[in-house]
Amino acid sequence: MRVVLLGPPGAGKGTYASYFKKKYCIPHISTGDIFRAEVAKGTELGRKIKEYLDKGLLVPDEIVIEVVRKRLSEPDCKIGFILDGFPRTLEQARALDEMTTIDAAIHLYVPMEVAVDRLSNRVVCPKCGRVYNLKYMPPKNDMVCDDDGTPLVRRSDDRPEVIRKRYEVYYQTFKPIIEYYKNKGILIEFDNTIGSDKGIPMLEKILIEKGILKIKPCNPNVEPK
Ligand code: ADP
Repeated sequence: MRVVLLGPPGAGKGTYASYFKKKYCIPHISTGDIFRAEVAKGTELGRKIKEYLDKGLLVPDEIVIEVVRKRLSEPDCKIGFILDGFPRTLEQARALDEMTTIDAAIHLYVPMEVAVDRLSNRVVCPKCGRVYNLKYMPPKNDMVCDDDGTPLVRRSDDRPEVIRKRYEVYYQTFKPIIEYYKNKGILIEFDNTIGSDKGIPMLEKILIEKGILKIKPCNPNVEPK
């Protein structure tokens, strides 16, 4: 399953990717995560990247493309991968097509106000990264993590006016990419307003029926949470 995952903030990309990663052992490759890890490790690449991240600029295509090329050549990507945050420019999309064959681009979306409702109720554990929703998936005890008892926090950019802005910026950036895959005939549009619990099994079925998801689960009992 070699797929690109597209979708605005609040659509559920993280939840979907983590499900397929746990159940099928398909690597979830987020360029944002790779860059933050390189910066944290203080590698030479990290130092170069930091200049762009600190200024809020996109990392230049040549650098991003090389990072992805290297990552996709690792053995765990033989069974497939879920790309997240890449491609972000048409040049990256074309470079990706030269590296490998993409089976599908999944555009996971929700209307803006659904995203606002979900993200403004989101809290995360700063220690383990577990995500809760105060309305739909609350922690068992008030505002502490079920797993390690750490007090939960809100992301500073999960405020309604900021969420609306992030949503608009997402489509300004990714509209050409969505069009690119639509023109290639491999775009799958999936509305996740129903929520991940119901949406994940539906998308999984679509991917199996289309012959995109062909591998057997490595952990068959993973629930769509
Ligand atoms: P954001 O929602 O802030 O864009 P990401 O985690 O996707 O979050 O990325 C963090 C930063 O890493 C981006 O702001 C950008 O500077 C850089 N980045 C991530 N992916 C790419 C990419 N495909 N091309 C260029 N820069 C990227």
